[in-house]
Amino acid sequence: AKAKGKNTYHFYSSELNAAANERLYIENELRQGIRDSQFHLNYQPQVDSRTGKVLGFEALIRWTHPTQGAISPVKFIPIAEATGLIVELGEWVLHEACRFSARRAQAGLEANVSVNLSVRQFQDANLIPSLANILEQTKVAPKNLHLELTESMLMGDVDTAISQLHDIKRLGVSISIDDFGTGYSSLSYLKRFPVDVLKIDRSFVQDIPDDPNDMAITAAIIAMAQKLNLNVVAEGVETREQMEFLKANNCFVVQGYYFSPPLSEQAVAELPEVLSGC
Ligand code: C2E
Ligand code: CA
Ligand code: CA
Ligand code: CA
Repeated sequence: AKAKGKNTYHFYSSELNAAANERLYIENELRQGIRDSQFHLNYQPQVDSRTGKVLGFEALIRWTHPTQGAISPVKFIPIAEATGLIVELGEWVLHEACRFSARRAQAGLEANVSVNLSVRQFQDANLIPSLANILEQTKVAPKNLHLELTESMLMGDVDTAISQLHDIKRLGVSISIDDFGTGYSSLSYLKRFPVDVLKIDRSFVQDIPDDPNDMAITAAIIAMAQKLNLNVVAEGVETREQMEFLKANNCFVVQGYYFSPPLSEQAVAELPEVLSGC
């Protein structure tokens, strides 16, 4: 093992180096990308599992780098978080998503939009004035804006988190818990937070109907959410069977490739108001 040790060390150190270099590269390119407007939003429909009616959209950021092409948010969002660039980028996302919603409302179309909020944005003292400003500038109806937070964002300083949530709700904006079930919160704990929607994490949905545990957990989350008067959205719905299971268990809002991938605003405009597949 000792003899191998040296090689192993070199192996890891060059791997670490490559990872660090990539981080540094993305960090620099992010700054440039923000300056050069290399980002846009895609919108994934959220659909009524009973009727196929489009109920709203989740806004998802996309980055088209001039030489690297598409870079996944899974890769760059954590780096934007770590460097604090997410605050500027996130504010742009909010603005853009609100403009989308306002244009949809203007056209008499379904205008609900959900926006992912990062932990940095949520903890930013400037979030509330910034949100108020964006709502006013874009003339979006606050009830059409939904912010998606993860459980872990609420776990640290609970009292501060609760007061921040109340401030958001006072603006008329609603709150969804994203990736629900992957964190540590019990539903009784969750009751202390003024939230409106639970989004069941894709990891529970993806193995329906093969994994009886995931099916039991999913059905239990839906049943408990109902008792707590929370709405539930299932994400990552890819098959008819998954959609049917969710519908049969009283989850009436679903999102996933089964109905539609995230789309450009132009493609969204060409979408029928009721999707087929129910
Ligand atoms: P998320 O919030 O959980 O978003 C759902 C992800 O699942 C999206 O990946 C979406 O494209 C993907 N997805 C949707 N339907 C299906 C399906 O049926 N099957 C599978 N396998 N995947 C599906 P995406 O767009 O790559 O985003 C990844 C993550 O990046 C998001 O996860 C979110 O955490 C983060 N993200 C994306 N946009 C933003 C943003 O504007 N701000 C922040 N802070 N984070 C963002
Ligand atoms: Ca989300
Ligand atoms: Ca999610
Ligand atoms: Ca599973």
